[in-house]
Amino acid sequence: MTTTWSTMREVQPVATRMLQNSIVKDRIAHAYLFHGPKGTGKQKASLLFAMRYFCEQAEDQYSEPCYECSSCKRIQTGNHPDVHFIEPDGQSIKKDQIEYLQKEFTYTGLESNQKVYILHQAEKMTTNAANRLLKFLEEPSRQTMAVLLTENIGSVLNTILSRCQRIQFHPLKSEGMYEQFVGEGIPESTAKICAALNIGLDEAKELSQDGWFAEARRIVIQLIDKVMNPKEEGYLFLHQVWLNHFQERHQQELGIDLLLLWYQDLISYHLNREDMVVLTDQLDRLQQYQYTISLNDAKTCVYELLQTKRKLAYNVHNTLAMEHLVLQLQR
Ligand SMILES: [Zn+2]
Repeated sequence: MTTTWSTMREVQPVATRMLQNSIVKDRIAHAYLFHGPKGTGKQKASLLFAMRYFCEQAEDQYSEPCYECSSCKRIQTGNHPDVHFIEPDGQSIKKDQIEYLQKEFTYTGLESNQKVYILHQAEKMTTNAANRLLKFLEEPSRQTMAVLLTENIGSVLNTILSRCQRIQFHPLKSEGMYEQFVGEGIPESTAKICAALNIGLDEAKELSQDGWFAEARRIVIQLIDKVMNPKEEGYLFLHQVWLNHFQERHQQELGIDLLLLWYQDLISYHLNREDMVVLTDQLDRLQQYQYTISLNDAKTCVYELLQTKRKLAYNVHNTLAMEHLVLQLQR
């Protein structure tokens, strides 16, 4: 399902209202800092904000973008020339990463003077990088906006804090969900998955008794074994098994979500956060594959999975999206 401001509002009412207000009242700041724990919607909100910024059909009095024009679609798929994503290169976000993008912006035939930067892990910006970015944002000839995301506001430089409008994203209530599910008789492993995916109680109950779901979990692990092993035929498995099992749109999305959980678990494992692993029956595999796939590679896989989700939301053909995904995961 596509995230809209209305769906966002159900989970993050305060943050959403502040952002909607700044759009409707035409008071968009140069820089925002979205801060809060992982999985609270910061990234989705940053994309929505960028979409509304560039949307060709948005009406002034509404905060929602149209979700359908070419700008909206390109932002959803990460292909808009004026929306840049910045992530740490190694341990930090460096000045030359910012400068590189700004030069690129100057040389390429730009579509407009408008530009949006979305910075992940903003706490990792060096002082020089931060100063370069802020200076650029404040040049009067540009209509440029930055959205900085962080899970760790305590480590963000003061120069940044003082120049950004801060928007706080609150933790979701997934811990309570897990206990509730287990209390309702759902097996622990399924309860963990459903809580992590924010699945409601009724659906969680159904899934726990559903042979299709049990099989889906097995197939997800089989696909991972295929893509981790260069000799195995991931492509063949995709066509012979995966596509037959995940046929409906909601099934396809659930398949991607399960893959995402696995790769996110691998990241937790790399970071020595075994306590955060959701698929606890996979610890042996995580231990084994941490040597096959580095932390950075795992992050790239998560990114590819998120891209695939976006493609499905925009009706890219499932087979095409999955073929591309398997190729990326195999690298
Ligand atoms: Zn639009």
